[in-house]
Amino acid sequence: VAHSQPAIVSRKGSPIDQSSSGQCGASMLSPTEAAELESEVPWSAVLEHAVDLLRQYLRFPTVNDPLRLSPSESLNAPWLAGCEAEAANWLFAVLKNAAINSELLESAPGRVNLIARLTTRTSSKPPLILLSHSDVVPVRRQEWDSQIDPFSGAVRDGYIYGRGALDLKGLGIAHVIIAILLHKLKVPLKRDVVLLVVADEEAGGHFGTEWLLRHRPELMQCGLVLGEGGFSIRGLWHNRDVHAIAVAEKGCLELECIAEANGHHASIISGDAPPARLVAALNRVLNRKFKTRMTSATKAFFETLSDRAEGPARFLFRIPIVKSQLTARHLSKIPAIKAMLNDTIALTVLESGVKGNLVPGQARAVLNIRLLPGSDLDTMREEISQELAKDSIRVTQLPSHTHPANASEFQTQEFAALAKCAGAKERDIVTPILSPGASDGRYFRAAGVPCYGWVPFPISGADLGGVHGPNERLAISSFEQGIRSLYRAVVEIVS
Ligand SMILES: [Zn+2]
Repeated sequence: VAHSQPAIVSRKGSPIDQSSSGQCGASMLSPTEAAELESEVPWSAVLEHAVDLLRQYLRFPTVNDPLRLSPSESLNAPWLAGCEAEAANWLFAVLKNAAINSELLESAPGRVNLIARLTTRTSSKPPLILLSHSDVVPVRRQEWDSQIDPFSGAVRDGYIYGRGALDLKGLGIAHVIIAILLHKLKVPLKRDVVLLVVADEEAGGHFGTEWLLRHRPELMQCGLVLGEGGFSIRGLWHNRDVHAIAVAEKGCLELECIAEANGHHASIISGDAPPARLVAALNRVLNRKFKTRMTSATKAFFETLSDRAEGPARFLFRIPIVKSQLTARHLSKIPAIKAMLNDTIALTVLESGVKGNLVPGQARAVLNIRLLPGSDLDTMREEISQELAKDSIRVTQLPSHTHPANASEFQTQEFAALAKCAGAKERDIVTPILSPGASDGRYFRAAGVPCYGWVPFPISGADLGGVHGPNERLAISSFEQGIRSLYRAVVEIVS
């Protein structure tokens, strides 16, 4: 990694002194040494600290909500959608307390990113980045339990409640704890470890990862990114916990579709009334059937599950040629799993008209299209545009929500290390997946940097609904299990 670029002015403190937090590297850890290192960790005190930190972090209302902006703000001051500055300042202080220097980088007023680096003078591998985001999606309070304030860090019945507990402040604190442990225990590093806590992930990363990589291009020289994407779900398959590590993500294409004509009174029927024309044309596009296609990650996912099937049907699930198809058919009733198998088109915005007896002169829709790796974005846009053009509907690509699919190799030592440590219990299943959603990992994968996305806290399928939904919560016992698994994996990967 080159450090010769002009330093961006830190908002606090001086730029990191690369040697002061440095640690002398030693030779690779043997399994026994790794186990010894872990046994050195005073876990109960560490986990108590982690819970305390997460509760404090959840109290910062780092909501990122571009929809709350007025049209003129959206155009002239889009950064007003969120504010991570206070949370970033607090994280800076937490790390400083642990004698870890970090840097705060302001991309726009109130939008602050944090970088901390544990350096080694004897690095033989490019750095590992631990990536999380400090912003969260908005809360609809009426959907939450009235007893729970989403920004209070409340603890109830063994759960920490709050917006961001799962997405993604829990992982952020796990990263901080891991960095502190590596530093305090002087774990011999073979590669630098870089902690990145970014702003603006929930709105596309323009004031976060995208900005940061433009201003700190040396971050792209890292060897591996660990971030979000997959979850650990309790009892998902034959009563076994499934730890899903995202190695790929679908792409996204947003198209704005506008139909226009002269408005007129509703007592007159014209063939080109914009709302009716738009609805009819959209119907054709939405009814399009996409062929099922398994990417390498999805195939690996279904094959891993097939091999672990139990009960009378288990022999069927293990027939080599059909097993992944059988498992796929079985599991594609779950919408999130079905989404791994197809391109999809969702109608997300539909607006027109203000008065019951008036046919309006304009109707507008937004289509959100998700594409598997291998599906071509431009081809899809052209096909949809041509279909809608038959009804004189104008289609515009919305660039800030458009990016291609991405995928990382997963036949790697690092993935194997992660998989080994993720499956804490004997019956656990660890698998790569293609995530149907998108995260900041895409910026790295697109540049050829491997990125594995895994939120390591085992949760129930129902609790997964708290991600961007009501009553987001994380069981303290899961938080602990996840921190320990991820710490073991990171030690394997860096030593
Ligand atoms: Zn997230």
